[in-house]
Amino acid sequence: MVDVANRIATARGFIFDMDGTIALGDSASGGHRAIPGAVDLLARLRRDGRPFRVFTNGSAKAPADYAASLRAAGFDVQDEEMMTPSVSAAEYLVATGLKRVRVLGNAGTMAPLIAAGIEVIGPSEKADGVQAVFTGWHREFGFPDLEAACNDIWAGAVLTSASHVPFFATQAGRGIGTSFAINAAITALTKVKPTVLGKPSRHALAAALRRMGLPRSAAREVVVVGDDPALEMRMANRAGAVSVCVATGLQTLQTMAALEAAERPLLPLQSVGDLAAMLG
Ligand SMILES: [Mg+2]
Repeated sequence: MVDVANRIATARGFIFDMDGTIALGDSASGGHRAIPGAVDLLARLRRDGRPFRVFTNGSAKAPADYAASLRAAGFDVQDEEMMTPSVSAAEYLVATGLKRVRVLGNAGTMAPLIAAGIEVIGPSEKADGVQAVFTGWHREFGFPDLEAACNDIWAGAVLTSASHVPFFATQAGRGIGTSFAINAAITALTKVKPTVLGKPSRHALAAALRRMGLPRSAAREVVVVGDDPALEMRMANRAGAVSVCVATGLQTLQTMAALEAAERPLLPLQSVGDLAAMLG
């Protein structure tokens, strides 16, 4: 525990999950409300000049729209400090030379790819030479989209995805991860499994590090805070980062203790605000 406290006090960067970690969706306003202590924690990091990113695995909105929602809830978060899987996907697709991409998602899913200069093809748009299919938030998914994506893959396109977890937490209970369901249909037909580009992938962590101005080798000196063992804890633990799980979302302190090693946090906390006392 002394070692963990020391690593947090001297950390070179912080990656926060959004929903269930620093904020909760507010169904009445369609926006967010801050989890107690979270606004002050990010303000403290800002004052101390320590870099952070807020990385949600949601791809329903563009990063700037999520950032605006957090600012309305009181957070000092700049647009470029907000990340979605589409942000790490855009970096990966450009780096691997996949510049013609069919996106099974909405305008918010597409925005970071378009900003990166990728030629984005709509869900069921007729197109040849598609190099990659990227699945995200796409509740309007239908048979023409499935057909188009499978035809791309049979013609050689790779399958990439924002997220591949079956459920996410909402105020009303369990929500279905749309990209998980879409991936399942595509994989059943093509036998091709998706390459995940959001959390918990190494691509997601690498993009967050790069955007904080840190080298890949700094992963062990970064703190990852989240409420989802399958996303934030898995991503952090695999890279040797400091994994901090909070009990304001999917988990309780009791359920965290029972997690398998790959998903168990180095530091279980009741709430993200409890980190403030550990910043040194
Ligand atoms: Mg969460």
